[in-house]
Amino acid sequence: MYLLELDRTMCVSCGTCIDICPEVFEFADDELSSIKGVELSDLQELEMDDPLCTIDAMENCPSGAISVHGG
Ligand code: SF4
Repeated sequence: MYLLELDRTMCVSCGTCIDICPEVFEFADDELSSIKGVELSDLQELEMDDPLCTIDAMENCPSGAISVHGG
């Protein structure tokens, strides 16, 4: 099990995570990244059996807003 965390207060709206991992991330109406299907808040979390493309997104996020725990 993996835990994906997105600290939206750190997002600089670059769009990289959405380009790399559109299955999981999208822009919300406030123009910050958000995790699809998760209620909008400053800190979003999603438990995932498979991290999919989120690790790639984490490694390429310029602001460190994305973290993936577990394995
Ligand atoms: S890569 Fe990081 S800074 Fe860029 S939109 Fe995604 S969460 Fe925001």
